[in-house]
Amino acid sequence: MTLKKLNKKKPIFRKIAVLDAAAFIHRADLSEFEKAYTTFDVIGELQDDVSVWIFEAMKSSKKLGVISPTEDSIKKVGGVAKKLGENLNLSKTDISVLALSFDLMAKNEDVVLFVDDYSVQNVASFMGIAFQPIRFPGIRERFEWGLRCESCGKTYNVKEEETCPECGGTLKRYVKKRTNT
Ligand SMILES: [Zn+2]
Repeated sequence: MTLKKLNKKKPIFRKIAVLDAAAFIHRADLSEFEKAYTTFDVIGELQDDVSVWIFEAMKSSKKLGVISPTEDSIKKVGGVAKKLGENLNLSKTDISVLALSFDLMAKNEDVVLFVDDYSVQNVASFMGIAFQPIRFPGIRERFEWGLRCESCGKTYNVKEEETCPECGGTLKRYVKKRTNT
């Protein structure tokens, strides 16, 4: 079968990009995308003139929408991040783009999250959210993290404490489980 025929049979999807701040800062190529969305938290992080200009231009062309994610999705992302031990690595903005992607997926939209942050990619991978790295190669493996005491070896979930509640030893992050993306 020729490529042309294959293309003809392909159903038409509305392909949507969800943009992290890096997508504005490094001018991600969005030519394949019909529409892009971001969150108010991301917009609040844009500081340099060029990224603010790109944001304004996209917004006035109606290609870009700014939406707040639902509380349910924010909670869902928080739960997954905690389970993976990424909870301390995600900012409010990181959570907002993951939650927004999840909201759009729930509406059967074909979503791609543009993000360079490895922790965000890791959580996205576990939630079934497709992601597109902007400047760096994306993650090939996904990780579940834990904390291990350097003195007594006892393991814990990732949390704020830096010392072992049992013996006072130093807690270091370790990979509990790794799988291919
Ligand atoms: Zn210990």
